[in-house]
Amino acid sequence: MRGKWVRIILWGAVIGVLFGCGAAQTTASGVNAPAVVGATSNKAIDLTGDAAARKSSAVAQTQGGSDLSLDRVLVTQAVYDEPLIFNKDTVVRAVVGYTGAGTVDARVTVEFDGKTFTETKPVQGKQTVIDVFVGAPQNFQTQTVTARVEAAGESSGDDPANNSKSVTLEMVKPNETITAYFLPVDWTTEQRQRYNFAVSFPKFVQDNAIYLRGAYPLSKDQITVDFSSVPHMLSANEKHLANNQGDTDVVSQYLLYATISLAARRLKPDATLVVGVLPPGWFAAHGKRGALGMALRDVKGTVTGQYAVTDPTTSAHELAHLYWLYEDYDYSIDPPRPFTWLDRSGYFVEAKLPEEISPDKKIPTFLSSGAPDQAYWVDTRAYEYLTAKFTIQPGGQVTAPMILAATMARQIDPDKNYPTEYSAGWQRYEPKQTVYVSVGAADLRGGETLEARWFNGDQQVFKDAKTTQAGSAWYAFSLRNSNGMPEGNYHVDIYLDGKLVKTSKFEVKSSQ
Ligand SMILES: [Zn+2]
Repeated sequence: MRGKWVRIILWGAVIGVLFGCGAAQTTASGVNAPAVVGATSNKAIDLTGDAAARKSSAVAQTQGGSDLSLDRVLVTQAVYDEPLIFNKDTVVRAVVGYTGAGTVDARVTVEFDGKTFTETKPVQGKQTVIDVFVGAPQNFQTQTVTARVEAAGESSGDDPANNSKSVTLEMVKPNETITAYFLPVDWTTEQRQRYNFAVSFPKFVQDNAIYLRGAYPLSKDQITVDFSSVPHMLSANEKHLANNQGDTDVVSQYLLYATISLAARRLKPDATLVVGVLPPGWFAAHGKRGALGMALRDVKGTVTGQYAVTDPTTSAHELAHLYWLYEDYDYSIDPPRPFTWLDRSGYFVEAKLPEEISPDKKIPTFLSSGAPDQAYWVDTRAYEYLTAKFTIQPGGQVTAPMILAATMARQIDPDKNYPTEYSAGWQRYEPKQTVYVSVGAADLRGGETLEARWFNGDQQVFKDAKTTQAGSAWYAFSLRNSNGMPEGNYHVDIYLDGKLVKTSKFEVKSSQ
């Protein structure tokens, strides 16, 4: 079955406690659906580097040499332009130019975290990207990454002046642990045979683990994944999700979560997250067509997902709900919006896979509605927010004072100012709704001025400032117009002592 899927179903009318989703629809729209208005800029990384680098290449060319140049260095663990996470796998991307004819073998040498790495690759023309995988940083310090390029063999005419570059990155040490336990649930013998369970289930768990480690801003040793090979079977009253009219059976859904949680924690008492993995077609067979997975808002630490061999993202999606991230799809507006597209490029380091967006290549966030044939990657806002959340909470550390996130939210915790329920994913607001942005600040000196400037299009509509306290905290700002804000594309710029440090976009659009 292809087409449009949702990760979970809205069961909320009676109890109002579920992470909601639109009703399942099967009209195929896929990635050709209209792009999210105002939520993305499709800003591609400029791999050609800055103008100066281009100019230096051009000069060398006019002198008739065959010059190698290192035009740009990008260091990332998932999303570009974020601080490094301690002990998380990292890639250094060297953008190499060559002015000579044909190709030349270029060797890139990278100094990172006190170690040296090299990678050799044929280079041709203006920009060849050489990716150097440098492992996970073990020293918690401001990191200066130096890269240089040279011809691997004999070279003539190379001007060494443009062959090296350094970039400096701060680091964070988040304080959070995910111990995920994958429990197969309700697989019959026939289903186990049909899906080659003995081989494919461990592979599925492994793929999910790789995705979690890639997409979540945590150290390698902060994400542990384990699983059971023995399915936990359900009784009839634990899987009666809806009656013949489609009405939710609230008791049955709680029984389902209770039995999965108890069975898994008997096997893995220290699990922080239990993922109940149901066989293909299970939700449809039990009253919830179109669902791929589910998180109950008031059941912490247990989610369910349906086995889909091509999609390892459902556990990351459902886990995000437990950290108060909301859906990146919106079926309450016209036209409905099944996907939010990434607005910043990145890299799935664990899979050695660039996630390079461009106007021609759109990648949906993993909080979008699911389509098993579709590749997903981590959203900028989700990554920023989770980095801030895990780092600002007690025990987190940073190598320098920094603003980690400006997270759009619908509610703010009244004491701590952090974005609360249904937080980071909300980019669309009703005209009369209050718009919040919660700014995650780590290790500030205190006494700085934090300012929020709100814009509708290019026009500033409001500004507000606060004085910071020493240490790490969230700071909340809000925007509201009791007569209703005009519909449009908005953004909020966050300044720290007059310097722009974060921009977050949102949209005002009525669902009426
Ligand atoms: Zn969801």
